[in-house]
Amino acid sequence: MSEEHIADVAGYFGEDVFNDQVMQERLPKKVYKELRKTIDEGKDLDPMIAEVVAGAMKDWAIEKGATHYTHWFQPLTGITAEKHEAFISPTRFDGSVLMEFSGKELIKGEPDASSFPSGGLRATFEARGYTAWDCTSPAFVRHDAAGAILCIPTAFCSYTGEALDLKTPLLRSMEALNTQALRLLRLFGNTTSKKCTPSVGAEQEYFIVDRDKFLKRKDLIYTGHTLFGAMPPKGQELDDQYFGTIPEKVGAFMKAINNELWRLGVSAKTQHNEAAPGQHELAPIYTEANIAVDHNQLMMEVMKKTAERQGLTCLLHEKPFSGMNGSGKHNNWSIVTDDGINLLDPGKTPHDNVQFLLVLTCILKAVDDHADLLRESAADVGNDYRLGANEAPPAIISVFLGEQLQDVLTQLISTGEATYSKQGEVMNTGVKTIPDFMKDVTDRNRTSPFAFTGNKFEFRMCGSSDSIASPNTVLNAITAEAFADACDVLEKSDDFETAVHDLIKKYAIEHQRIVFNGNGYSDEWVAEAERRGLPNIKTMVDAIPAIVTDKAKTLYKRFGIFTESELESRVEIKYEEYSKLVNIEARTMIDMASKSIIPACIGYSKTLADAVISLKEAGADYSAAKERLDEIADLIADAQNGLSRLTEDDDKGMVMEDGREKAVFYRDIIKADMERLRTPIDKLEMIVDKEYWPMPSYGDLLFEV
Ligand code: ADP
Ligand code: MG
Repeated sequence: MSEEHIADVAGYFGEDVFNDQVMQERLPKKVYKELRKTIDEGKDLDPMIAEVVAGAMKDWAIEKGATHYTHWFQPLTGITAEKHEAFISPTRFDGSVLMEFSGKELIKGEPDASSFPSGGLRATFEARGYTAWDCTSPAFVRHDAAGAILCIPTAFCSYTGEALDLKTPLLRSMEALNTQALRLLRLFGNTTSKKCTPSVGAEQEYFIVDRDKFLKRKDLIYTGHTLFGAMPPKGQELDDQYFGTIPEKVGAFMKAINNELWRLGVSAKTQHNEAAPGQHELAPIYTEANIAVDHNQLMMEVMKKTAERQGLTCLLHEKPFSGMNGSGKHNNWSIVTDDGINLLDPGKTPHDNVQFLLVLTCILKAVDDHADLLRESAADVGNDYRLGANEAPPAIISVFLGEQLQDVLTQLISTGEATYSKQGEVMNTGVKTIPDFMKDVTDRNRTSPFAFTGNKFEFRMCGSSDSIASPNTVLNAITAEAFADACDVLEKSDDFETAVHDLIKKYAIEHQRIVFNGNGYSDEWVAEAERRGLPNIKTMVDAIPAIVTDKAKTLYKRFGIFTESELESRVEIKYEEYSKLVNIEARTMIDMASKSIIPACIGYSKTLADAVISLKEAGADYSAAKERLDEIADLIADAQNGLSRLTEDDDKGMVMEDGREKAVFYRDIIKADMERLRTPIDKLEMIVDKEYWPMPSYGDLLFEV
């Protein structure tokens, strides 16, 4: 693309997407209308319609240069999967080929599913799994080194219909929320809205490092984060990185990803430097949850591929560097109707917006009742280095309401009635040439895991590399339940006004413990949360059981979001994933320590020893060299001991059978062993001659992009 063309964003935004505009242009009117009914109202899809859509989609994709199509899905590995099929189909007689794509191929795919995690839902000999077209998320053509490929977002299920992916439960949760939110709206006299959809905008944090340096670090290659590394002389203490000027190479990278994402219809909007050196953020404009989840996956893919093309590497891990800020993904979430009403919009005077107060207190109840589920939805192996660890936000779920809503809530609780709302004031900067403006009614709180931010909630615990499907599934499900409970009460009452008033007060009182507006990173909060009885679930292994509590099973069964066997299978998959990933980390450390770091240190000691001898022979002062040699020798011995212990324990871990027991072993024993190996090696890095050190340091990676 020329520079001129790149600047004309409106001209090419979404040009690689089979979006509504393309469908209107290319589908017969009747077919288009039927398809919209399926997309908008969830009507069953007629196979004849699919046939026509498939034909139009294929012609459009081929015009874009596509030679293959793929069903694009999110199995329980957390990343997207795809298997490319060429459109070609041989003609019978003359050896030539036709480009074909049938309705059947659009609707249903059958990847050999036996190699995807199923947690016992499917034995390997029952390999059948199906991918099924999700017409609510538009198909797109992706261009990369493999050529142009038509990607069709799909759900992934087993032969018996159990969900083997992240999308299916998400879609089910959206249906549940739609049904219950409409019920609630009807109670308030709304007869016109037809659909309620969760809207989601995910802010994606990431690090950029030089690719050649990345390739010199096996820990980054195999695990996505550093397993060794001493702090550089400068970290993030000056706060000079946050919102700082964007380095040229990173700027070029941002430009390239924006361009690519815009063509794919992803509305990449805001970009800036984040708190740590080398750390940045990209946020799109919010959209329907299902599409937002797909777009976030796409965004991560595009980031990784684009970085590679530019000689960079994009690190999406939650904690690439210890001692620095980790990366998260803020999940902004609200509920919006088809006619544009945001259920989370308090209006100017929230105290008299009864519908909003009910929605708000229902969400407080939902989050309080299911804090453990929400916490679990953000758990992954990488996030364990970030949440609840010593350099990170604690893993306690609480809700930040801000000054105005807190005040309304306090009025409700103390008098049973809220009669006024604090209003924003005029901001006067004291400089005449700067115009005065209205301040927000409330300040921000960057330490809250679940913060009300004007007309949406922002769930900030999600890991940067993780799919946001699970957090949104949980948010939708628990909110659907709270709405349903409220409607069950209110629909039966003769006096709606009194009943709703009482219910809001009841929820406010019963669930006020989940509200916390102070500094969520302070030790006082950890103690206070414990007094309040709020769970503080520090690790993924501790979080997993939340999926199968009776309370969770009841919730998911009530709204048909997960069957019990689907839940059980997910538990098994997660324990296994945990042990496997920590095992890879342990093996990587063993590999690095034994094949390169310790030998390099020994090599350097030899040089030092030679120096000691030469100095001594020359009658010079050799005390400094000798002191260094002794110190290094001690540390090498510590490292060697650490290495032996980790190797032995990891061998034990690898043969363990039971999922939970094994995961606990990896968390408690292996992680402690890893730390024990790391400590002397990080010290060695500070005193061994840089020429000998076998890989780039934190400083090289973070400050020399
Ligand atoms: P902030 O700066 O307060 O974090 P932004 O306006 O930059 O908020 O938005 C952050 C993310 O939240 C963006 O992806 C944005 O599109 C999304 N967002 C904004 N409003 C809503 C809403 N009503 N529902 C869901 N997401 C929203
Ligand atoms: Mg934010």
